[in-house]
Amino acid sequence: MGYAEIEEISEDETLLKEEVHRFAEEVIRPASIEIDRMPLNEYPEKVVKKDSPYWRVLKEWKKLGYHRGPVPEMFGGEGLPARMVHILVEEVAWGSSGFSIAFGVDLFPILFTAPTFDEYLNETFVKPWLEDDRAKYHGCWGVTEPEHGSDWLLGCDFVLEDDRPERERITPGQVTAKKDGDEWIINGAKSSWISSAPVATHVALHVNLDLAKRSVGGGCVVPLDSPGVTKGKPIAKYGQKDCPQGELAFEDVRIPGVYMTLEPEALHPSTGLMSMDQILCVTSSWMAASSTGLARAAFEEALKYSKERIQGGRPICEHQLVRKKLFEMFVKVETARAYSRRIMEHVWRELFEKFTFKASYRHALAAQVYCKRIAYEVADDALQIFGGYGITDDFLIQKLYRDARVKLIEDGTVEVLSLEGAGDLIRNY
Ligand SMILES: Cc1cc2nc3c(=O)[nH]c(=O)nc-3n(C[C@H](O)[C@H](O)[C@H](O)COP(=O)(O)OP(=O)(O)OC[C@H]3O[C@@H](n4cnc5c(N)ncnc54)[C@H](O)[C@@H]3O)c2cc1C
Repeated sequence: MGYAEIEEISEDETLLKEEVHRFAEEVIRPASIEIDRMPLNEYPEKVVKKDSPYWRVLKEWKKLGYHRGPVPEMFGGEGLPARMVHILVEEVAWGSSGFSIAFGVDLFPILFTAPTFDEYLNETFVKPWLEDDRAKYHGCWGVTEPEHGSDWLLGCDFVLEDDRPERERITPGQVTAKKDGDEWIINGAKSSWISSAPVATHVALHVNLDLAKRSVGGGCVVPLDSPGVTKGKPIAKYGQKDCPQGELAFEDVRIPGVYMTLEPEALHPSTGLMSMDQILCVTSSWMAASSTGLARAAFEEALKYSKERIQGGRPICEHQLVRKKLFEMFVKVETARAYSRRIMEHVWRELFEKFTFKASYRHALAAQVYCKRIAYEVADDALQIFGGYGITDDFLIQKLYRDARVKLIEDGTVEVLSLEGAGDLIRNY
């Protein structure tokens, strides 16, 4: 392994790190490169095929039971402590930033259902999902819509009474859910950006419960084989191709009432964790850890190359400016790890240990923004160290650079996340 922890980490943590790193190196990274090299015109067909590298990795992930790791014990998972979840995400993202996102969104249907402790949901969905060892179930998270990307972050929540009048509510939400007896009927379309949607079996879906009241959000789980659901093809894109994105459209899709797990009226301690702010605390800590893994991968590639490439009669790592750059990259990776780990420990403690559901929104957003920027800066410097060869297919660094660029947009652009963080600062600091 290329780096040593300065924090004291336990034997269990070391073991997990070594195991996941091996998995990332031997299984995830080769598959991710294979997907990245698919010609763009063939990619949408190829990546979703049942024998594609994507499915190969996902099946292995579930067979090894890693998907249970981050799920708290009270929800039926393994309840890894936050630091171990951080280690898991960083190592996976070292192998592939895209797969770290795919494994993250995979958890969403469980996050939407397990906290209800509903017996029927537990037996029919939560338990089978957690016990799955063949990738029979695969989740995704449907938030953004063709007309609402950033708007969703800036304007959506699950509270009926708006206790934050200064926060402008601008999101009517195009995907609606209407009650019909014991069922809900869903209509509308989510954007082409739903990670893993083209390969998922279930979506944790944000819906608009009442257009007249504007952004009154609800959340439900929808099986994607329900009549009326259409899955779009993966979009051909520039980076993070190893996590395919596609549209989800719903036409009079009926779900049982119990699948609507997040209604404003239902806000109580267990589902309260699902306020949009708290969901974004979880995703922010995940994204920050994932960005750290990606930054480290780019740094390690550059360090290795700088020892091999000879210019001016010696390895470029012996030239002062390259040395300085390498050290600055190292500092960035270390600070990203320290910060993202601290945030994940905070979020996990508040949500899954103390059940306060009051993780600090601004701190979580700060970590996400900071670590995404670090990943991009480090990947940019790393590419520069490779010179011209860096932009050829022969080296991994150009993929890492493209993946890092994508990170500045997914899960909210860094600008809009900063606006959200500033709003929290101004209101509550
Ligand atoms: C790789 C990837 C994976 C994704 N995965 C998912 C997923 O799993 N589920 C999901 O629901 N969505 C997903 N998304 C969507 C993602 O959350 C959105 O792309 C993102 O929130 C930005 O929305 P947009 O692309 O519509 O850009 P827009 O909202 O159209 O923004 C365009 C530009 O305007 C700026 N802007 C917008 N509004 C404001 C404002 N009020 N003030 C200042 N500047 C503003 C933005 O910063 C941006 O630079 C993913 C996106 C990507 C790229």
